[in-house]
Amino acid sequence: MKTIHEMERDIPVIAETDVLIAGGGPAGTAAALAAARCGVRVMIVENNSCLGGIATSGMMSHWTGGTFSPIMNELQDACHQIRWPVEDGFQASYAAINHEKLKLVLFNKLDEAGVVIRTHTLCADVVMDGTTVRGVILESKSGREAVLAEVVIDATGDGDIAAKANVPFRKGRDEDERMQPVTLMFKIAGVDYSRAIFPGSFESYVQVPKGEIQALGKQILPKPAGHTLLYRSTQDGHVVVNMTNLIDIDGTNADDLTKAEIETHRQIPLIIDFLREYAPGYENCYLLASAEMVGVRETRHFEAEYIITGEDIMEATVFPDWIATKLLFNFDIHNLDGAGLDKNGAQHHFHSKGKYTIPYRCCVPKVVDNLLLAGRDICGTHKAHSNFRVMPICANIGQGIGVAAALSVKNGVKPRDVDVAAVQEVLKSQGVEL
Ligand SMILES: Cc1cc2nc3c(=O)[nH]c(=O)nc-3n(C[C@H](O)[C@H](O)[C@H](O)COP(=O)(O)OP(=O)(O)OC[C@H]3O[C@@H](n4cnc5c(N)ncnc54)[C@H](O)[C@@H]3O)c2cc1C
Repeated sequence: MKTIHEMERDIPVIAETDVLIAGGGPAGTAAALAAARCGVRVMIVENNSCLGGIATSGMMSHWTGGTFSPIMNELQDACHQIRWPVEDGFQASYAAINHEKLKLVLFNKLDEAGVVIRTHTLCADVVMDGTTVRGVILESKSGREAVLAEVVIDATGDGDIAAKANVPFRKGRDEDERMQPVTLMFKIAGVDYSRAIFPGSFESYVQVPKGEIQALGKQILPKPAGHTLLYRSTQDGHVVVNMTNLIDIDGTNADDLTKAEIETHRQIPLIIDFLREYAPGYENCYLLASAEMVGVRETRHFEAEYIITGEDIMEATVFPDWIATKLLFNFDIHNLDGAGLDKNGAQHHFHSKGKYTIPYRCCVPKVVDNLLLAGRDICGTHKAHSNFRVMPICANIGQGIGVAAALSVKNGVKPRDVDVAAVQEVLKSQGVEL
């Protein structure tokens, strides 16, 4: 490949902080709140215009699963306390997300906790001293800047910082590195809630006048779309649609992401035509808005001190060095070859022994110091990842890692040498239960 040589240059250090968090999704924002509440200086850097990650920019329908999550509960309560002129539809579940309220709540909560927030900024590179991370290089409208930190938390979902720091990783499925499909979420209006159907999983089979909705979707929708997943929004008549689908996209490759945006946008009008024709209550539905970005389910899995597996989840393992607790969800592996559930996935037929935990070791990368992982980029198998990737679990991981980073700074020890029992005591004081 043809190359050019970039000249060396001095970069302004715009901030020095205790804990720097790259990425402001459910994991990053929870980490920021938890760390700041321990009394350390925290800065969060987010590439998008708002905080929330997939929950807001990705237009996510709802916080999934049976996980107990103190920070998720706090955010949900704060959203529900906001009263705006157009009131929320009473039919939505408590877990349904009002994206505009969540954006506002996250800005306010982090600001009140004293977190320094920077949006519209990409964490583009790392500042390394041997194998120790000393900070992050930012790229934005302001140019190229540096922030130095005692501990950096990679909550970018894709693990952009860990990759730059040369933490070993593989992508996707263990045997061939193929990754879960991507989806551009969108919202429709004009739905008659009194008659509408809401199939919420691949295994929700609903009989409609012209047949069974999942079967009709597989027959009629543009491939690789084909499943029908529809969720009540917080506003009457509005429905969040999780039905666009594209396979073999690498979410760490800009060309693939561009292709995904183009193809999924093309699927939207065809999906709306399908709903108007076949789904009761959707005869007059129309497009309201699409998400700010295509939703990427899976990319890099990093090597850390422990790799959590599907068996750990099935056994409801309680690890002695737990930092995230009471986690419950299924194996939500989307079909890597098309629509619906993958043969290795399990939704309604998922039967684990109960709620599991995630050990601190899954978040402590091999080789590199002063760096912690939080969210969907922690160390786990493809199967385990399909479970821990959901937002309440990522928020719990973020909370645990935020506290661990804060104690690392306060006690002057490397993150890998943090006293996990002390982290657990702080987590309990922040509402975490074992
Ligand atoms: C289509 C789809 C449907 C889903 N459905 C559900 C559901 O119904 N319920 C549920 O609970 N979960 C669902 N999930 C899973 C869940 O939304 C994600 O796995 C979860 O949000 C991951 O949290 P995170 O904080 O690790 O990452 P993200 O939510 O991806 O947040 C990462 C943040 O980091 C930012 N970022 C990335 N790189 C950089 C960088 N280099 N510099 C600065 N910022 C950066 C991003 O802009 C983003 O805001 C779904 C996911 C997808 C894609």
